Amino acid sequence: MIKKATHIEDTMRLLGELPTIKAPVPEYLYLATDNARCPKSEIFIKEGDHVNLCQPIGIRHAAFFDQPIHASCSGIFVGYEKHYHRSGKLVNFIKIKNDFKDTMDPFVKERSDEEIAKLTKDEMTEIIKNCASVGLGGSSFPTYIKFQTKAPIKTILINGIECEPYITADKRLMLESPEDLIEGIKLIQQAFGCKDAKICVKKKYHELREVYGELLSRYEGSGITICPVGNFYPQGWEISMIKSATGIDVKTGTLPSAYGIINFNVSTVIGIYYAIKYNLPVYERRISVTGNGIKHPSNFVVRIGTPIKSIIERCGGYKDPEIDKSFILGGPMMGASLPSDDCIITKTVTSVIVLNHKEYKEEPCIRCGSCVLSCPTGLEPISIMETMRSMPVNKEKIKELNPLKCIECGLCTYVCTSKIPVTDYIRRAKVIAKLK
Ligand code: SF4
Ligand code: SF4
Repeated sequence: MIKKATHIEDTMRLLGELPTIKAPVPEYLYLATDNARCPKSEIFIKEGDHVNLCQPIGIRHAAFFDQPIHASCSGIFVGYEKHYHRSGKLVNFIKIKNDFKDTMDPFVKERSDEEIAKLTKDEMTEIIKNCASVGLGGSSFPTYIKFQTKAPIKTILINGIECEPYITADKRLMLESPEDLIEGIKLIQQAFGCKDAKICVKKKYHELREVYGELLSRYEGSGITICPVGNFYPQGWEISMIKSATGIDVKTGTLPSAYGIINFNVSTVIGIYYAIKYNLPVYERRISVTGNGIKHPSNFVVRIGTPIKSIIERCGGYKDPEIDKSFILGGPMMGASLPSDDCIITKTVTSVIVLNHKEYKEEPCIRCGSCVLSCPTGLEPISIMETMRSMPVNKEKIKELNPLKCIECGLCTYVCTSKIPVTDYIRRAKVIAKLK
């Protein structure tokens, strides 16, 4: 019997098979002065200044770390403008008028293999910090902080799972830049003095397993292996991946490094390689642009700071323009909904999903228990939701129900028979659970 493919399956298969397109660089690029983690910043340039590609032009400050800002084109700093950030907030962006010359800043310089071989972990950490490497799987957590762990590392896990529906940009990256990925893994092995490195991919991605099986046979003795894991969501969540790849249960509230494990997304690993080899900051990234609301879904390499509107134009524009659209930045399960397409690609954006808007009518809870059965962290979403709905909210009960364990995977909303936005209640419960 032939299985009828869903729209999502069709789109993913097609996207995963098509090569990544280099998106045209627009006339103006926009770089956020601040973000959800970094509320303060210092900008080193003034209006009218010329900037080079990859020039450090500012620094964002968070409570416990700093994030340098690099120009993602060469051109003129023309001022500030407010646009939507992935966080859903309107924030200030530095606006640069592209001169289309891509004059590279002297900050970027190649290191020889001999120089790299002598680098210590601390020296690599400093390079990665200056190049503003962050978790490109969507977390945007500064990579240098992970490198600072003092815990002895026995296993490095490379996350190529990309478990949310619709997204295939990492799969294309792994197929198109396998050698860069291996070079990045070798650098992480060098930094942590750890040989065992597993590249985790979905079992069903046979072509990836073939490509890496062949490639790794040329790196005999490297300690790098391919590790097929489940095809389900949320297999890419680090706790679930660690369990599948190593059998270890990471307890809530502990870090994987306490178990001798460190993990990085595949895009982050390649970013680490470019930072150490070329002192190259992340000035572009791969994203999937997809959904039933655009004409030609595609995977792109885009400059950081590109307005989403210009990428949608490159996809042939909107399908069914008479239907209202919903915009999601990130995957459909964990991504952030946006009120419009007036948003900018930042390092955290893994995908842009444009959906033809559908009205769902919320019904009363029928206590089917699907949300409880599907929760990967063992919570009782229905109990949390009911407690949140009863007024006044019983704070002690909320704390007992432990919503802080929630990873906001969105499954409880997805499976809800009554179309209740259960995850939204859990998010609000997390805020209450943090109150003293
Ligand atoms: S979003 Fe829902 S299903 Fe996912 S971890 Fe949180 S409570 Fe559980
Ligand atoms: S899945 Fe929805 S309807 Fe079923 S118990 Fe949970 S909240 Fe109620």
